[in-house]
Amino acid sequence: MSTRYDVIVVGARCAGSPVAMLLARKGYRVLAIDRATFPSDTISTHVVHPMGAAALARWDLLERLAATGCPPVHTYSFDFGPFTLSGSPGTEESPVAYCPRRTVLDKLLVDAAAEAGAEVREGFTVDEVLTDAGRVTGIKGHARNGQVVTESATVVVGADGRYSRLAEAVRPEQYNERPNLLAAYYSYWSGLPMNGRFETYIRPHRGFAAAPTHDDLTLIVGGWPYAEFEANKKDVEGNFEKLLNLAPEFADRVRGGKREAPFAGASIPNFFRKPYGPGWVLVGDAAYNKDPITAQGITDAFRDAEQCATALDLTLSGSRPFDEAMAEYQRGRDEHVLPMYEFTCQLATLEPPPPEMQHLFRSIQGNQRAMTRFVQMNAGTISPAEFFSPQSVALMVGANMAG
Ligand SMILES: Cc1cc2nc3c(=O)[nH]c(=O)nc-3n(C[C@H](O)[C@H](O)[C@H](O)COP(=O)(O)OP(=O)(O)OC[C@H]3O[C@@H](n4cnc5c(N)ncnc54)[C@H](O)[C@@H]3O)c2cc1C
Repeated sequence: MSTRYDVIVVGARCAGSPVAMLLARKGYRVLAIDRATFPSDTISTHVVHPMGAAALARWDLLERLAATGCPPVHTYSFDFGPFTLSGSPGTEESPVAYCPRRTVLDKLLVDAAAEAGAEVREGFTVDEVLTDAGRVTGIKGHARNGQVVTESATVVVGADGRYSRLAEAVRPEQYNERPNLLAAYYSYWSGLPMNGRFETYIRPHRGFAAAPTHDDLTLIVGGWPYAEFEANKKDVEGNFEKLLNLAPEFADRVRGGKREAPFAGASIPNFFRKPYGPGWVLVGDAAYNKDPITAQGITDAFRDAEQCATALDLTLSGSRPFDEAMAEYQRGRDEHVLPMYEFTCQLATLEPPPPEMQHLFRSIQGNQRAMTRFVQMNAGTISPAEFFSPQSVALMVGANMAG
């Protein structure tokens, strides 16, 4: 069947634009669609860990991001009340994180896809996924002026977020499901300098974090268990203030600043989806969604976009059968993210960590190498599987890691 496009990508933010860009750079005919227009915001905070920054660097986009005035974050700290663990989150090659406003980051990604040669259609909503004999063949949607359009492609990629229209149509297997675990709210403050630090505060059944973003503003995000969502949503501002007061010194610093935006918030479910089938592929939140407490979503979307684009290139170029290339994409994703997924879901309960974990965290206090490993693990630079392995724990609590 002749198709106008090799690939249609539905959704053009952190997952979709990189897929479109990487495939267009390889010379494929790509259409990227989003119902949003850019620049535009979305409900999400925006810590991009060093491994996410490394992806931007590989794509020659990191300098562009830095040039927007987004301050680098060189230190993460985790304040448990009685003690604090802090260190550098990255590696020698990619030492810092960023916390770019989505208005800036997503626009930069969409522009990079267009520059690479992808056709980008903004303000266009996909209403229907077209199929032929069980195979996805294209989309039907409408522009803002109401014009209805159908388009066909060899593969349709759903990068359309956790409530994906494509996933709704193809009903992929969903696994490792966990319910909503916490409710998170955030806003922006002026007059609250962070000096390159991302600070996290962990208290019983509460957690919050602050990071510097564009325009000399500081993002503060905090949350409580989902069980309190209904009761607390009536007074988010009051409950947020109570939350900050659990760390009095930080609350004083916040009082020295000024909140510059209304609160935004969300609570989201946790799941994996099988990310491929006849004529379709899922990437980003559409394929794998988890609580934002460990801020992995954008970094994951970048990695999965790259893996997905590689698999699509293999199959579109005829080097590998679709099912084989995509099974590897799924396997690679699951193996990589599963330990962090488990860690994220445990943290998101806001229950105190198990006693042996508490003991480990206490015992590495002041041990800079071990604290750096802890910070790197939270950033996703090293896997929780590696951090919590018996050998690593023995090293961290033993004399070998001292200093
Ligand atoms: C409260 C909160 C805080 C978060 N904080 C962080 C953080 O600090 N760091 C981090 O890394 N991650 C964070 N995340 C997660 C992060 O937002 C996501 O993982 C990331 O946005 C996923 O990108 P995506 O491109 O897959 O999907 P999205 O960003 O959801 O983009 C999907 C796009 O698809 C478009 N779309 C959907 N349906 C259609 C349709 N029918 N037709 C056309 N277009 C369509 C939408 O308009 C949208 O632009 C947070 C999430 C939440 C909810």
